[in-house]
Amino acid sequence: MPETDVSEADVLIVGAGHGGAHAAIVLRQRGFAGTIALVGEEPDLPYERPPLSKDYLAGDKSFERSLIRPPVFYAEREITIMTKRRVVAVEPADHRGTFSDGGTFGYGTLFWATGGHPRRLSCAGHDLSGVHSVRSRADVDRTAGELANTVRVAIVGGGYIGLAAAAVLAKLGKHVTALEALPRVLARVAGEPLSRFYEAEHRAHGVDIRLSTVVDCIEESDGRAAAVRLAGGERVAVDMVIVGIGIVPAVQQLVEAGAAGDNGVDVDAQCRTSLPDIYAIGDCAMHANSFADGRAIRLESVQNASDMATIVAKAITGAPEPYHAVPWLWSQQYDLKLQTVGLSIDHDQAIVRGAVASRSFSVVYLKRGAVIALDCVNATRDYVQGKALVEQRLVLSAPLLADTTRTLKDIASYAMGTHGKKAQAAARHSSRAS
Ligand code: FAD
Repeated sequence: MPETDVSEADVLIVGAGHGGAHAAIVLRQRGFAGTIALVGEEPDLPYERPPLSKDYLAGDKSFERSLIRPPVFYAEREITIMTKRRVVAVEPADHRGTFSDGGTFGYGTLFWATGGHPRRLSCAGHDLSGVHSVRSRADVDRTAGELANTVRVAIVGGGYIGLAAAAVLAKLGKHVTALEALPRVLARVAGEPLSRFYEAEHRAHGVDIRLSTVVDCIEESDGRAAAVRLAGGERVAVDMVIVGIGIVPAVQQLVEAGAAGDNGVDVDAQCRTSLPDIYAIGDCAMHANSFADGRAIRLESVQNASDMATIVAKAITGAPEPYHAVPWLWSQQYDLKLQTVGLSIDHDQAIVRGAVASRSFSVVYLKRGAVIALDCVNATRDYVQGKALVEQRLVLSAPLLADTTRTLKDIASYAMGTHGKKAQAAARHSSRAS
């Protein structure tokens, strides 16, 4: 592993994860000839996080296969990687910063690509042994190391990560209880039809899904988590607790240095922060997203981290362009491949396309009649063709979208042919009006 050190770099990237690695890769692809240093607090080279809650946790994928690039790739391109180095302070006026061991560095341009730290429960017992997060390789190695002695697992949080972990553990034969505070799983990211489908799938695989359920505390026995006490007083006996309740964006150092931001660091259309020569990308970047009608949001996906990395690499190699990438992500649970395109937040209609019972269907989300997102379960054709509907924000009727005798491509052509481009543009405009 290239464990060199530098004290100065033309581009210094803080955070050696998806966004950081991709930024270094694209810079070199675009012919950037200056020095690049990629600094990460973890001990490993940049790796893919999605397998952590899926095949890496299951033991089906080695860590080496999760590396974003092999070590030789960085060496050949003269990308210096500094592992186990945590940046604790930035001084924007001097273009300098400090590591946790007291060492300092200088930069020409700084990319802040630090993702986030797992949000922890705040109740008693949150830090007991046997309580795990799912953010880093170290988290999952700790979890996996205890699985042989684990029968009962409680998963706190019914989002993508918690549910993916629940699927893996159920398949490994563990007794899994999933605790979700809201009245349905995936409530923040998907519509009700998708939530109900996944709840039924998990129950069919033996997962005890508890909705509208708040954790009161985690009880211990011999210093280890032994039970989750629920707000109603019920006690769920466990050998392990996995907490998947989101992240806290890792932006404290930048905000202390004066960057605008709070829940993430604020960036403009080219991912520039309010500080000179400092960009922020990925999970930690709060940006106005055109697929959320310009609302400021943070996106937590590989797509967003990679596409933002490309935007900053372009900006500093003389080809600036605004960030306008259609959001997409995937999730794997059991034999179900979920592919999502667009952002369903703010939808006012969710149309199911196909038979849910067939385990191959899509949910198409509309806002004021315009397609803003799709969730496609084992329905890759809809996902691929649906992207154009989202990009063009086509205004389509519910019966037409639900008609599975026509492909989405046919439906889009039919709508354009019938109503014409002008009518679509007018309808699209009024779908955005608040
Ligand atoms: P990260 O990849 O998290 O990288 C940030 C790095 O910065 C980390 O290594 C962190 O330790 C380091 N760092 C933080 N602070 C400092 C500091 N001060 N000094 C030095 N280093 C620092 N997305 C999908 O699209 N599909 C999926 O199926 C999917 N599944 C996921 C499953 C899991 C278990 C997890 C955790 C995430 C998943 N994601 C998925 C989300 C995706 O992995 C993230 O959106 C992506 O990793 C974000 O990239 P990033 O560069 O912003 O942050």
